[in-house]
Amino acid sequence: MNPDFPPIIDAHAHCGVLDKSWPQSCEDYERHIDGTGIHGVAFFSPVYEIYDRYDAHFADTPAWQARRRQSNTHLLSLNPAGLSVFPYFFIWNDFAVEQLTPGHRGIKWHRHPGEPKYHYDDPRCLAALDEIRRRRLPVVLEEELEHTVRFIGGLAQGIRVIIPHLGGLNGGFRAISAAGLWDLDHVWADTALASRAEIREYLQRYGHRRLMFGSDFPFGEPAEELHKIRSLNLDDQVETAILGGNFKRLQAAVDHR
Ligand SMILES: [Zn+2]
Repeated sequence: MNPDFPPIIDAHAHCGVLDKSWPQSCEDYERHIDGTGIHGVAFFSPVYEIYDRYDAHFADTPAWQARRRQSNTHLLSLNPAGLSVFPYFFIWNDFAVEQLTPGHRGIKWHRHPGEPKYHYDDPRCLAALDEIRRRRLPVVLEEELEHTVRFIGGLAQGIRVIIPHLGGLNGGFRAISAAGLWDLDHVWADTALASRAEIREYLQRYGHRRLMFGSDFPFGEPAEELHKIRSLNLDDQVETAILGGNFKRLQAAVDHR
């Protein structure tokens, strides 16, 4: 198969400008996808450019707000040759949706157990969700299970939510299944660092229309994650959808005004 066709889009990669703990610049990513045929990528800021994940009682400061703005803005400035960048805005507790621009193609919403919590009861949270809904931006949600269930079942009505890693960091694939979330039309998933067995089971139970290839660069290796999908020997039509077709369909609904 010609590796350049059909188009391959990585729905989950991190790209930073401030956090130097990993090689995770756009140039680093470009080096890692050389020869893979990947021609588009959804980029998120690294967590450590957004909040202090090592301090559960972290309080926001103007310095951190400036850091977030710089990091999110950096993604909008990227325009590498031969690679389409889809910048996702990493939102935090200032719910700064006034910073959204027509260039943003999604929202990153992320926290792990033990990390500072999102203030779901803050009226600004609901207002932010209204704006996200209005712009028809998809939300990549990595959160603990109870918050994932509440977000999808209530707060995010009318918003398309992508659960990354096939649920690996949202309580696990089976817990998401048991909660009935994979059945929902507005719930999507990515394959980043998920096992072959879970990908197969997902496809068998929920079909291929809402599953997208993702690498989780720099924590995952794009070439290996791509090989993982190809080694499943899926029907061409299914593989094509997962590797880029579904992402394009997801993005086609975004309102660019
Ligand atoms: Zn990730």
